[in-house]
Amino acid sequence: LTTADLIDEEHRICVCVRARPLNKKELTMKDLDVITIPSKDVVMVHEPKQKVDLTRYLENQTFRFDYAFDDSTDNDMVYRFTARPLVETIFERGMATCFAYGQTGSGKTHTMGGDFSGKNQDCSKGVYALAARDVFLMLKKPNYKKLDLNVFATFFEIYSGKLFKSKLRVLEDGKQQVQVVGLQERDVKCTEDVLKLIEVGNSCRTSGQTSANAHSSRSHAVFQIILRRRGKMHGKFSLIDLAGNERGADTSSADRQTRLEGAEINKSLLALKECIRALGRNKPHTPFRASKLTQVLRDSFIGENSRTCMIATISPGMASCENTLNTLRYANRVK
Ligand code: ADP
Ligand code: MG
Repeated sequence: LTTADLIDEEHRICVCVRARPLNKKELTMKDLDVITIPSKDVVMVHEPKQKVDLTRYLENQTFRFDYAFDDSTDNDMVYRFTARPLVETIFERGMATCFAYGQTGSGKTHTMGGDFSGKNQDCSKGVYALAARDVFLMLKKPNYKKLDLNVFATFFEIYSGKLFKSKLRVLEDGKQQVQVVGLQERDVKCTEDVLKLIEVGNSCRTSGQTSANAHSSRSHAVFQIILRRRGKMHGKFSLIDLAGNERGADTSSADRQTRLEGAEINKSLLALKECIRALGRNKPHTPFRASKLTQVLRDSFIGENSRTCMIATISPGMASCENTLNTLRYANRVK
């Protein structure tokens, strides 16, 4: 192994945590902040109001990640350390994936920028848009310009183990690449085209009686930027706003539908963890068949030039403590 190989191995998987500020509702309920990020890669979960004594680290729940972003970090900064390095990967014929993982309300959609429901949402500053912007910038660089690459984008969701909104099927071709059949891949020319696509995709996310938020907490939203050269795939970047991880615990709900959805989410998040771990350990067998989510991302997990980044989002309140610890433990296990 050369030094370059070693660096590459180390950077194949990046796991980060982002804590949001206490929100209005939490402040009204007098919830207390139990999260401290004492350095750029450490997260501590502790008793509220307890003065955190950094010399007594181990008495609190302490986790170390590649990066830990506190509640003063903006999307731009999070992007720079997470998805930004992966843009290069797809230009170098690689497969990149970036996941937002966490409890409902912890900031996944805020980070990824897929929410067009509020009036004040500026989605041009989320990870989706920032990645799209940089793809179009990179395209202009002389060494990539000469490759004559075309950019395509797609936005769809996986709900209860099924792909929506059109009738979609997952096929594997001989080269072990996944094709999502029936899914419209759009030819995109600029960041605005991409934002429009996401906007349309988002407006389709509500179904039946479920409100937008209740629905999005139960589905994985998948946004992909695909580079093609003479019709052949050159690289693919998948950015995923995962279902709320607390939904995986709905398996004992009285409602049958909720129970089934919970089981499906649980299954897919476990499969995802195992696939990323297998990628990090260079294992020949990736258990991607276990869920529709990992099946769709199959070619992102088996390529030699695959890189993954997980952004685990956490709520700071004591009321969310149990979910927060579950999120941190999951993120910890991924590496
Ligand atoms: P999720 O998608 O994980 O369910 P959201 O992204 O919808 O959560 O976030 C829930 C609420 O918290 C939203 O109103 C969002 O604007 C706000 N929020 C999330 N993260 C942050 C942050 N880092 N800074 C400020 N507000 C945030
Ligand atoms: Mg969301």
